[in-house]
Amino acid sequence: MKITNLFRDRMVFSFEIFPPKKTSPVETIYSTLEALQDLHPDFISVTLGAGGSGNGTNAIAIARRLKEEYDVLPMAHVPCIHRTKEEIDNILNELQDAGIENVLALRGDIVPDTPVPEDFSHASELIAYIQEKGDFDIGAACYPECHPSAPNLDVDIQHLKEKVDAGATHLITQLFFDNEMFRDFRYQAQRAGVNVPIEAGIMPVTNRKQIERMVTMCGASLPRKFTKLVQRFEDQPEALRDAGIAYAVEQIVDLITDGVDGIHVYTMNNSYVARKITEAVSGILRAAPIC
Ligand code: FAD
Repeated sequence: MKITNLFRDRMVFSFEIFPPKKTSPVETIYSTLEALQDLHPDFISVTLGAGGSGNGTNAIAIARRLKEEYDVLPMAHVPCIHRTKEEIDNILNELQDAGIENVLALRGDIVPDTPVPEDFSHASELIAYIQEKGDFDIGAACYPECHPSAPNLDVDIQHLKEKVDAGATHLITQLFFDNEMFRDFRYQAQRAGVNVPIEAGIMPVTNRKQIERMVTMCGASLPRKFTKLVQRFEDQPEALRDAGIAYAVEQIVDLITDGVDGIHVYTMNNSYVARKITEAVSGILRAAPIC
């Protein structure tokens, strides 16, 4: 099943997970997979680190398990900046052998002191390459508040259009906390000819450290309502978790009301949070209009 086809008749609801650290056995994530399966997402995407010589074995094993053991549609992230064509070929071959046809084609963040082979500079090159390699359904990343290294949003959207022209058939956004940013971005992207489904990436923030790390990494703007919430509950973990879930639910309800193509929840491997969110919006998901 190709993810692109899911958008044809309904709003898509999906999750993202990351593999356990290299020092932990892959089995440590199995209980999370089981719990997420119960929530019946349309697909689950599995991240893969950009750096190092990692061949994605754990990530691919998890994607494979999702498909074979849990009957959940997997999507494998494939970042290219630190990989040669040969390394990408190996990953694609493994995915094909596992019957995994959905990939999120990414440049990846440049890891300091790690070699950058000259094979790929941008995700659009990887997308074109994967197109030639097999029958994959290719998604790509996009940035409602502009990618941090792009000079401005117009230029970034031009580069996004190159990814769609190269063969990306759906997009997932970077996390954001201000729905207005997403609305403006979607409008501008459409005007620029980016006419593929865009899933909104929602990160339920449940602890203070996580917020600090994310804001440094992706520079998402924080609406006053959000910062007030964090300040009020920062020393009360349970209250902050519940407030973070409530904030994410409010964002999702607003986006669905607006006719968003899909919601992609960055679960951070926290199945409790994913369940709370899914339960809170399940009736709305069922009622979401056909796009
Ligand atoms: P690109 O589309 O190549 O864009 C990167 C920058 O280059 C942008 O500023 C763009 O404007 C610019 N650019 C693009 N084309 C050109 C061109 N032709 N000329 C000049 N400039 C150009 N990272 C991981 O390592 N692993 C993951 O699993 C992962 N999953 C992610 C999932 C999502 C949904 C998102 C939003 C991000 C994810 N990332 C992941 C992070 C991502 O790899 C980084 O944000 C990275 O910096 C950019 O990747 P990209 O694919 O968007 O790159």
